[in-house]
Amino acid sequence: AAGLSQRVAHLSPSATLSISAVAKAMQAEGLDVCSLSAGEPDFETPEHIRAAAVRALEEGKTRYGPAAGIPALRQAVADKLQQENGLNFSRDQILISNGGKQTLFNLAMVLLDPGDEVILPVPYWVSYPEIVTLAGAKVVRVPTEEAQGFKLTAAQLRQALTPHTKVLILNSPANPTGAVYHRHELEALAEVILSVPDLYVICDEIYEKLVYGEAHHISLGSLSPEVFQRTILSSGFAKAYAMTGWRIGYLAGPKPIVDAAINLQSHSTSNVCTFAQYGALEALTSPLSAASIEKMRQEFSQRRDLMVQGIRALPGVTCPQPEGAFYVFFNIRQTGLSSVEFCQRLLKEQQVAAVPGVAFGADHCIRLSYATDRATIEKGLHRLHQFVCSL
Ligand code: PLP
Repeated sequence: AAGLSQRVAHLSPSATLSISAVAKAMQAEGLDVCSLSAGEPDFETPEHIRAAAVRALEEGKTRYGPAAGIPALRQAVADKLQQENGLNFSRDQILISNGGKQTLFNLAMVLLDPGDEVILPVPYWVSYPEIVTLAGAKVVRVPTEEAQGFKLTAAQLRQALTPHTKVLILNSPANPTGAVYHRHELEALAEVILSVPDLYVICDEIYEKLVYGEAHHISLGSLSPEVFQRTILSSGFAKAYAMTGWRIGYLAGPKPIVDAAINLQSHSTSNVCTFAQYGALEALTSPLSAASIEKMRQEFSQRRDLMVQGIRALPGVTCPQPEGAFYVFFNIRQTGLSSVEFCQRLLKEQQVAAVPGVAFGADHCIRLSYATDRATIEKGLHRLHQFVCSL
């Protein structure tokens, strides 16, 4: 439209948010929609975390705070990263932001100039290319295949490097594929990363708590002090603690980068909602959290098995076993439909909401989320079966 900046002219709306909106509108009309498109846990935030925020509110924690976050929360994040992830960040290397999204946005703004290249393994989370493009930098897409578990290899990384490469974005566990990088895979990538001076890796570890079976989450930055220097961590409370609406994430990285991000954030959103930060502090420091996370993780693990089994039973459809997050990403190439056609027809003919892979750079795939109750998953799989058989 006339008057809009060039910056937003090519910005696409978040496909995941818009499908969910259509599904919700259909539900409001009284249609029985199975929503398998959501990117958020269906659980309520654990009670003790909610209580901590209510307490903070009643105690008058209602004012502006430091732009970087309340000191106790920054310290708790630093302690957590030290103890759980083997990452040695000090408190002043932590910035609390409005979700992982703002963390990534801040990072793009402080790291990227026009002409810089950002390597992005495909399939990728929808917002990465948009955020990079908004910063004026160039997205270098590196396709990964199902056969390689949708994981970037060292050889692919080496090939994608140019003198303009500035950043690699690595997301493990991954949205939309559920891929989890194993130690030897990270070690191979680290070797390439260290061979290039000044290459930073943004590690989006927001799904770190959601890993299943034999899979373990490993932070790239824990591999060696040299790799640590190149690592910038982006994470948040949304997925692990079922705190999506609270909008709290964090950045950890080299101090000059974090300082620049604090400066930037101080001119845009300032601090994250003060009393919400006390909820996040409770999430990190309460002995009750481990049990609530584990309960959700086990439930997700069972739903994953249920969903993978159902999808693998569909004729002509394949998917690798996802090891983390709460998504299954399956291949529909044999149906001959584009991912958008597939999802539109599935929603119209069977009232099942799914997200087209094209939103993640893979038009031959569909993403289903199992962050919903088992009855909905079972009903959705049944309808999906009828749909695929009707093609
Ligand atoms: N990173 C990934 C891979 C995600 O899937 C999401 C949310 O869907 C985010 C970051 C951002 O999460 P939030 O901004 O809710 O913390």
